[in-house]
Amino acid sequence: MTTTEPILQVAVPAPVRRRFDYLPPRPGWSPPVRPGARVRVSFGRASVVGVVVGVATTSAVDAARLKRVREVIDAEPLLDPATLGLLRWASGYFQHPVGEVVAGTLPRLLRLGHAPRIKRSVRYAATAAGGRALVGAGALARAPVQAHLLGLMLAGGSVSEAALAAEHREWRRPLRALIAKGLAEAREEPPRAPGPAGTCDGDGADGKAGAAAGAGITGKAGGTAGRPELNTDQRRAVDALRASLGTFRPFVLEGVTGSGKTEVYLRVIEQAVAGGRQALVLIPEIGLTPQLLARFQARLPCRVEALHSGLSDGERLSAWTHARNGSADVLVGTRSAVFAPLARPGLFIVDEEHDLSFKQQDGFRYSARDLAVVRARDAGAPVVLGSATPSLEAVDNVRRGRYHHLVLPRRAGGASPPRIDVVDLRSRPFDDGLCDVLVEAVGQVKARSEQALLFINRRGYAPRLLCHACGWIADCGRCDAHLVLHHADGRLRCHHCGAEQAVVAGCPECGSRDVRRLGLGTERVAGALESRIGGLRVARMDRDATRRRGALEAVLDRVHAGDVDVVVGTQMLAKGHHFPNVTLVAILDADGGLFGLDFRATERMAQLLLQVAGRAGRGGRPGRVLLQTHHPHHPLLRTLVLDGYRKFCGDALDERRRARLPPYASLALVRAEAPQPEAPRAFLADAERRANERPHPGVTVLGPAPAPMERRAGRYRAQLLVDAESRTAMQRFLPEWIAALETLPSARKVRWSVDVDPQEMA
Ligand code: ADP
Ligand code: ZN
Ligand code: ZN
Repeated sequence: MTTTEPILQVAVPAPVRRRFDYLPPRPGWSPPVRPGARVRVSFGRASVVGVVVGVATTSAVDAARLKRVREVIDAEPLLDPATLGLLRWASGYFQHPVGEVVAGTLPRLLRLGHAPRIKRSVRYAATAAGGRALVGAGALARAPVQAHLLGLMLAGGSVSEAALAAEHREWRRPLRALIAKGLAEAREEPPRAPGPAGTCDGDGADGKAGAAAGAGITGKAGGTAGRPELNTDQRRAVDALRASLGTFRPFVLEGVTGSGKTEVYLRVIEQAVAGGRQALVLIPEIGLTPQLLARFQARLPCRVEALHSGLSDGERLSAWTHARNGSADVLVGTRSAVFAPLARPGLFIVDEEHDLSFKQQDGFRYSARDLAVVRARDAGAPVVLGSATPSLEAVDNVRRGRYHHLVLPRRAGGASPPRIDVVDLRSRPFDDGLCDVLVEAVGQVKARSEQALLFINRRGYAPRLLCHACGWIADCGRCDAHLVLHHADGRLRCHHCGAEQAVVAGCPECGSRDVRRLGLGTERVAGALESRIGGLRVARMDRDATRRRGALEAVLDRVHAGDVDVVVGTQMLAKGHHFPNVTLVAILDADGGLFGLDFRATERMAQLLLQVAGRAGRGGRPGRVLLQTHHPHHPLLRTLVLDGYRKFCGDALDERRRARLPPYASLALVRAEAPQPEAPRAFLADAERRANERPHPGVTVLGPAPAPMERRAGRYRAQLLVDAESRTAMQRFLPEWIAALETLPSARKVRWSVDVDPQEMA
């Protein structure tokens, strides 16, 4: 149907895979509504904020029946064509409704219809009285934190909230005290002018720091703070990256932990910004420590903004707006920052690209790493995927010559690589997860006033509670899973649905008091260590110990201050923390990952192992890694320990090729769940039938099968695997099929989702 009026194709926040067409608010509406503008529309009975994704001259719907947009929110499009294009591409590739994609990636305030705006940033400076108080002996002698913060203000002229937060976890209270005493004051920043900062300089980044000091959350003094001389490998990497600024080129920067990858990023960013470009740096979820941000801000004499889930709505909107209008030069963020619009995109960096957190695991299941590459291609810019343990996908792309390989084989600053010792646990004294060799090694570390990290991939005390008399096991009533004992708070918890109950004193089945705790968690290991080595100071680092806001920083502070001898933790320990005094790392259960169900289990295990191992000996002293196993001759362990990651990847890729698994095939998973056991399988059986009604070259639909954990949180789960010979074949098949699934009657009885390129097969 044709009308003389433009048809506005609107992405509305609804879980439906179709576009909704509307007409402008009135006939002859001017100026014309452009793609990227937000509009308020009636949708069902509600009024919702949607985004215009296209303007057409025709609609499948009769023009007389088209509704009018109620309000045009943005006279100028909020989203530029590149960002909108990325969202549409991602919606198509990952098969997620475009309305949910658009809504899910906008900061909340924009989703609600607010205007893009900037939170004024506040800086703090010492007053004249403050200066005297610090100089005058004793005025702040009993308030060391206040004295420290005041010292920072005096040293830098003024400091940002971010800089204070990076220095001190509990900065707000002492700051308020300083202000109350008239020793410090807040100064509001004038809003920033958009456009190239021009304050970052290529190789000679000195001198201009003064100009940048007034801008935003620029680092303390800015500029050359702790800028090491690059080594040959770093130099080569930096040169290659700088030479490709202005053209699309994907790089894999493979550098062992501590090899100076971050240093390479910093140098390339300097150059990009000096050339008037913006850099987007994606980092893993938990990697965004205040320390990392502080390092970027201190080193880059330009405008660095952070975008992550820890921010308030206002702060998120502000960072997003700065990225969009170009007044931020560098945006450092977690997964979702890949969708932030950039006024002058020129460089994309994905640090720890192998990290699982770049793939969203629910709702819109996108890969931020892969989207960064798509974005770089569209922007004609280089993209750097950095890791000590690149994903097999990245390694394969290097082998095929699609990605350029940059290698930093040595630790920077001359630190030597850690020695890896495989400890054969068979018939060795072994209690509470600790063998004699390990206990002795920890004792030595303590005696030398060094530190150790112990890694175990489970929190809590013991993962199973078993009645020795009758065999009863404490299970979750809502999941196919055991309850985990949390000893300190006397609770049994399900790690899958969060259900919990008090610990039972005796067996609820037979009444026996002989109920045993089987298996290991961080809590048990920490307690055992404390009781076996007198005076040992042990900290835990896992989701329980760091749940409270600021608790993770507190643990990190204690480790850095030397108030802790040993940290016992989960994979949280593997993420990018820099502990210079750690000389021993132990992996308590190397066997856990050797026998996983998921075809990626061995890859993950190898990455985790090397990442954890990379925490050892990053300071001047050599590090040692102890790997406890009952399978010392397992081929994976041997290859990894004796020949290294490169050889391991070669073997693993050969295996994937033989088994026709990614990256030599493309997978998608359709998952379904429902309170009734039959419903998910019925839906997936319909879906399978639908797919196999006619042949799809290069595509196989297999299933349905129950999920590895069939019941979770009281819902039954099943899945259907789509196996395609290539991404092209997959993308040819999916759109029509997925759209058809929405119309199946059995779809209404389940919750279902699509996962393209799934990272977890459960
Ligand atoms: P990565 O990101 O690869 O783990 P970093 O960039 O964090 O490594 O560097 C590890 C440590 O080595 C840091 O303390 C860093 O300041 C230091 N460093 C990096 N490059 C050099 C260099 N060329 N000379 C001396 N020290 C360096
Ligand atoms: Zn019993
Ligand atoms: Zn449960």
